Amino acid sequence: MAPPNPFASVRWIWKNGELVEFEKATVHVLSHALHYGSGVFEGIRCYKTRQGPAILRLPEHLQRLALSAKVYRMELPFSLAEIGAAISETISANGFDSCYIRPLIFRGLGTMGVNPLRSPVEVVIATYPWGRYLGEDAQNAGVDACVSSWRRPSSSTLPSMAKATGNYLNSQLIKMEAVQNGYAEGIALDAGGYVSEGSGENIFLVAGGTLLTPPLSASLLPGITRDAVITLAREMGYSVLEQVVPRGLLYTCDELFFTGTAAEITPVRSVDRQPVGAGVPGEVTRRLLAEFNGLVSGEIRDRHGWLTPLTPVTAAGSRKAPRRVESAPTLVEAAAAAGPGAPD
Ligand code: PMP
Repeated sequence: MAPPNPFASVRWIWKNGELVEFEKATVHVLSHALHYGSGVFEGIRCYKTRQGPAILRLPEHLQRLALSAKVYRMELPFSLAEIGAAISETISANGFDSCYIRPLIFRGLGTMGVNPLRSPVEVVIATYPWGRYLGEDAQNAGVDACVSSWRRPSSSTLPSMAKATGNYLNSQLIKMEAVQNGYAEGIALDAGGYVSEGSGENIFLVAGGTLLTPPLSASLLPGITRDAVITLAREMGYSVLEQVVPRGLLYTCDELFFTGTAAEITPVRSVDRQPVGAGVPGEVTRRLLAEFNGLVSGEIRDRHGWLTPLTPVTAAGSRKAPRRVESAPTLVEAAAAAGPGAPD
């Protein structure tokens, strides 16, 4: 049976300052990003809480988006406040009370050379319903993972701290290998052979009551859920160490779990067919999951201010485009100014 289409209920997508209908949210085939991976993006979740829809850690996601853009020298045509407001507007226009949010900043139609600086920077925001990333029962039962034969690129090759579209070719290799071999997810090692992260999640181990997670030097994305889990675990009295994790610990630890916006907290019950602990989610993982789920549903008080409610839609209506901070050249202007460029 074909999986349900998550886009069936999406009516509006925000594109360069205005809401456009789903079918009209298109790009030119010669957009730089399509050829050279020149895009940066975020994955954010809006949760249905008792107090209404709320976006989890919106300022942190916007900040990371800005840093990713900075690495690739992309000048943002909108302020972070404008992008934040546009996210709210897009969710409201689609009438979602919970959804996944995908802002993407990319280089559009300009020149066909590798040099990206002569292609205009475009911004889109999509929102769509999304359930449990690693399977509906993943939080209860845990998932089976493998160690990937693919390594994460070293930080002198591609900076993993930037959430760039091009990085996800590596993630795709990890994910395809895992799924084709019957696993839900692959765990990649870094260039030095130490544990890095999953194809789209950070990883935590529990050993002797202590939580361990690889450091940023292990070619991983500094996850915002990773940060939330470190904070919650310390509040609960656990010690958390960011330290180099040798592969062997994956087989000897008591508990293992992934963290990420899509994966939330997902227990791992086996690695390379070896059960983790007793082969079922352990106590520390379950306690953290309960705390996390309580917070994002609004049942536990949001003591850290991690939930941002949607901004109310103004009486003027939600279809009004926010002001552009600095107008980007039109596609034709950009292409004309840049000349044909050398194909690469
Ligand atoms: N690593 C990678 C490669 C990811 O794609 C993600 C998902 N954004 C994460 C880690 C987790 O990051 P976050 O908790 O901020 O979603």
